[in-house]
Amino acid sequence: MNLKRLQQSIEKIATYSDAGVGINRLAYTKAEQDAKRYLIRQFEDEGLTIRVDAVGNVIARREGLRTELPVVAMGSHIDSVYDAGKYDGVIGVMAALEIIRLLNEESIQTLHPIEVIIFSCEESARFSIATVGSKAMAGVLPAIDLHALTDRDGITMAEAFRENQLDLEQVERAVRRPASFKSYVELHIEQGPILEGERLDIGIVSAIAAPTRYRISISGRASHSGTTPMNYRSDALLGAAEIALEIERAAKAEAHKGTVGTVGVLTIQSGSMNTVPGEAYLEIDIRGTDGSSKQMVIERLQAVISRVEQERDLQISCTLLSHEQPVHMHPDIVHDFEETCEENNIRYKVMPSGAGHDAMNMAGLCPTGMLFVPSQDGLSHNPKEYTSIEQIGIGTRLLKDFILKSAIVTTNALQNKCLRSS
Ligand SMILES: [Zn+2]
Repeated sequence: MNLKRLQQSIEKIATYSDAGVGINRLAYTKAEQDAKRYLIRQFEDEGLTIRVDAVGNVIARREGLRTELPVVAMGSHIDSVYDAGKYDGVIGVMAALEIIRLLNEESIQTLHPIEVIIFSCEESARFSIATVGSKAMAGVLPAIDLHALTDRDGITMAEAFRENQLDLEQVERAVRRPASFKSYVELHIEQGPILEGERLDIGIVSAIAAPTRYRISISGRASHSGTTPMNYRSDALLGAAEIALEIERAAKAEAHKGTVGTVGVLTIQSGSMNTVPGEAYLEIDIRGTDGSSKQMVIERLQAVISRVEQERDLQISCTLLSHEQPVHMHPDIVHDFEETCEENNIRYKVMPSGAGHDAMNMAGLCPTGMLFVPSQDGLSHNPKEYTSIEQIGIGTRLLKDFILKSAIVTTNALQNKCLRSS
């Protein structure tokens, strides 16, 4: 493994960024397209054939001896959130490039073709929709959902597509058949504090948590803060506060199952210091890999809403924004990674992913696995995001080991000849 070269690749991609703090390489921007063009050249230099699909996914293919066999795929994304770090997504793509370089240097031929996929628009930062590229590939992204989306400068997704020589009407053409894949694996930073806290090098992802999201509107009565006695009030903010605290209590009661609940948005309509709040809005995100545990939190949310409505004389409406099911990684791949860690004395843990990834969509197409390397201080979506090159190297080695097993290495020319003629 050439750690220096791997490090240089990661640093090189970091130079493709718009102005701002840290990395700003949002989906479908020129910075992201330039980075993709640079990577296309790198893969072409390694002899791979390149295809850009209808949603902008870059697919670099290293032919197998049996071209008709299903593909062994690896990849991740290189788009970022605003003011991001260097590692999220990028390490999965750079590890894949490093593996391709190593296979070429070692003159390794495989039976199955290998593909590196750079997925488009994994982050929801620009268009409020995540994992667009892998959703399109898995056939779970109807074009109709995309037309209403705009970024914060008012640019529509259709316009962004046109700037990239893509047509939003054509996204269905990115769909691929399950039969075209043998497996998909992705290396990614953990984006949380567990691996570092437990002094582990590798997280083997067991399942990817699915969010259930609600928007809650609370209507009370705005009134003068000085003249309205306490028992005449209908305070929307206090209703919101009770709901937020109940979400915390409910999620803590389910913490042993890995379920989490967050109120990430709480706004008061025209708040002022001398007004009892009349309107409040909450946005709630509940996640977990255990469906029934998540359901417990959802039920407690529903119960607290009806209680608070009555006790505080409020009208509360609750809109379900999304309700996704957890996705399990393939047990054989999890087991395979575990064995390799055991054999090589790598300190690892089988763990769920709280964040969504392209792997969750690829799991709908083929047996899928995912590896995490530690994030320093658990930081991600932050310019301070950091993982050491040695840790990225351990993940890359595991990924390479799996790719070679899945794609089946052929060692001598005679064997290759027999296979061709068979
Ligand atoms: Zn990511």
